[in-house]
Amino acid sequence: MINIAIDGPSGSGKSTLAKEIAKRLGYIYVDTGALYRSIGLYIKEHQIDPKQKEAVIAALPNIHLELTYEEGKQTVYVNGVNVGDRIRTPEIAEITSTVASIPEIRSFLLSLQKDMAARHDVVMDGRDIGTVILPDAQVKIYLSASAENRAERRYKELRAKGIEITREEVKADLIKRDHADETRETAPAVAAKDAIPLDNSALNLEQTFEAAMEIIRKKLNEILPNRI
Ligand code: C5P
Repeated sequence: MINIAIDGPSGSGKSTLAKEIAKRLGYIYVDTGALYRSIGLYIKEHQIDPKQKEAVIAALPNIHLELTYEEGKQTVYVNGVNVGDRIRTPEIAEITSTVASIPEIRSFLLSLQKDMAARHDVVMDGRDIGTVILPDAQVKIYLSASAENRAERRYKELRAKGIEITREEVKADLIKRDHADETRETAPAVAAKDAIPLDNSALNLEQTFEAAMEIIRKKLNEILPNRI
């Protein structure tokens, strides 16, 4: 199977890029953030304090996660209910980042992610894909952009979803969450040693896509000539 790992901080455009690459190559796109966010949503809806590690861990046996693809779009079900856009709020992002630092949460999601990559050609995005989940991925890209750029993109995304928030709040949330993700003990959000960095601060969507495809073509041609 071909596995392409895309990691990077919040708002760097990982999911937009990964989705486009998957579409072009006919691979499956796996949004791992949505899996963590679905756990965050469950924790919120069951009024569990995300900082109470033991309580969060105790909830795990009650969480049944299902990853499906409906008309090519990844859909996550928690105990049979589609999480939809309820996982996309700033509040859920913050709860998610807190619970994502718990090793038991990460191992709970490990096999689901590894199984997908073992059974399909995938483009998987997240924070620890190149380092922990798919250390043998044939292509690893670390996508980043300046904090200003990332905050502006996330702000527009949230506003488009009708969420009332200011630019300053978005930027502060983003910096706080990235710091927590990057400094946690288990699977910190850092670039794998063999990841190829791509900074898209000065690139538009199409240019980012072209730059990523160039990296992928080069890498795959080295190991599988004429594959793409
Ligand atoms: O990518 P997204 O913003 O949806 O991720 C939400 C949060 O989930 C991140 O801030 C991070 O704490 C956690 N996450 C993670 N590992 C991943 C994907 C997401 O820890 N592979």
